[in-house]
Amino acid sequence: MIMSSSSYTNSPCAACKFLRRKCMPDCIFAPYFPPEEPQKFANVHKIFGASNVSKLLNEVQPNQREDAVNSLAYEAEARIKDPVYGCVGAISVLQRQVIRLQKELDATNADLIRYTCTDITNQDSRRIGEEGGSSLGQSPHEGFYYPSTPWNNDPLGDGYHTGGDNTM
Ligand SMILES: [Zn+2]
Repeated sequence: MIMSSSSYTNSPCAACKFLRRKCMPDCIFAPYFPPEEPQKFANVHKIFGASNVSKLLNEVQPNQREDAVNSLAYEAEARIKDPVYGCVGAISVLQRQVIRLQKELDATNADLIRYTCTDITNQDSRRIGEEGGSSLGQSPHEGFYYPSTPWNNDPLGDGYHTGGDNTM
């Protein structure tokens, strides 16, 4: 009895069991499709076909075969769940999320810059407002609107502002 071959002879791999064939000691599927995970091979076979998978595995270096099988299994499962988009559906959802979060981050950074600038201009304009307020007694609103003027005219602020609007 040879110890190493006993695992193959005891129970066929998921692929050979599915295909109802004898699992040979040199079976290309055996290391990647253990009998405990029958669904993994069923999915991959349904989407890619067993002969294409075996061809693909033979073209790949042995140390990369596990990664290849895992990606095939992932793609097959996604394609079964979503026959139209497969894993591309998940990729585009995540890409859109990245773009949205990037815009949100840009807008938040712009707000941060604006608030920092407003704090400085507020301190300046309050002093101006107090001085001018007594002479312009007829318009109490002047003091509220005055601080907003400097950063509305700021070309940097406008550029960031349009970027923020696009997120909506
Ligand atoms: Zn096998």
